[in-house]
This record gives sequence, structure tokens and C-alpha cells, in this order.
Amino acid sequence: MEGQHLSFHVDPLHWEQIASDLALLGPIQADLDICNQGNQDEGELYISASVSSKVQCECSRCLKPFSQSIASDFHLLYIPSPDSLPAEGYALTSDALDLHYYVGDQIDVDDELVSQLVLSIPMLPLCRSDCQGLCPHCGENLNLMTCLCRNEGGSPSTWADLKNFSHKEFHAESKT
Ligand SMILES: [Zn+2]
Ligand SMILES: [Zn+2]
Repeated sequence: MEGQHLSFHVDPLHWEQIASDLALLGPIQADLDICNQGNQDEGELYISASVSSKVQCECSRCLKPFSQSIASDFHLLYIPSPDSLPAEGYALTSDALDLHYYVGDQIDVDDELVSQLVLSIPMLPLCRSDCQGLCPHCGENLNLMTCLCRNEGGSPSTWADLKNFSHKEFHAESKT
């Protein structure tokens, strides 16, 4: 097989099925370079892939939903599906590459594209790099306004009152 380049959008109806866990806000764009770098006698296909899309994320600081662009570049190695179950040793020889099987002349990369997209979603997404988050005391969104707690040096006044109160109580008790 000659090396070839494929660029395509995953069919929207299809990605809604395979990526139903993802809150996708746009189509999945995929680019695949299929090269015959692998061992051609054994039908190895080496695929260099990039995939991108947009998902809805919730900001880990201010909890606001926002659109996050995600993208991933990765490589896949496909070999013809063996008639019987693969010997365990075979998968171990594939080094760092993910080893996948194909049947006939069909290669189904959709699941792989989706799992790579899932991996590229940030663990702690931020609506913007300098997001101020929520005030830990009053819950106000500090991107939108500066709350009173912050003006008082971050120490909520009710806590300060409580501290003074118990301090006085302690003295009152120790005198009796
Ligand atoms: Zn935020
Ligand atoms: Zn506050």
C-alpha cells in the first residue's frame, strides 16, 4: 500500500454515538498519514494522526462553562487481525507503540481518535490563564467583582468576631 494522507471530519451522527461522554461543541477534525514504514510483508501499517475538536469544560477555578479547544498528535501501529486470538507475547513486542488490529482492508480508527481526544482534555481546565476563581468565603466570582472579604485582607469578619468572642469567654471563665 502506498503512503497516503487522509483528512476528514468524523460524521457528526457518528461522533455523537462514539463520543457521547464528551460535551463536543464542534466536529472532530482528523488528519491521518498512513505510511508503509512498518514491515510490509506482515501488513503492518504505521499511522501518524492528529485530531482536534472543541469541548465544553467547566473552569476549575470559577466553575464557569466555557469552550475549550483540544488537539492531540499520536501514532498508531496496525497489523492484520490474526485468525485466532493473538499470543500474549505479540503485543509485548510492540514497544511504546499502541498495537491495533485491522480486518481485511478496513481500518477503524474512530475509537482511537475519541480516546486520544479524551486524554487531551485538561485535568484542571481554566476559562482563562489568569482566572481569579471564586472567593472561598462568599463564593463571589472574582473575575466579575472584588468582594468585601478581599478588601479586608481575606479574613472574613465573622471569623474575627468569633475569635474575639471565645477569647473573652475564656477570660470570663478563668476569673470564676
Ligand atoms: Zn474561570
Ligand atoms: Zn468574598
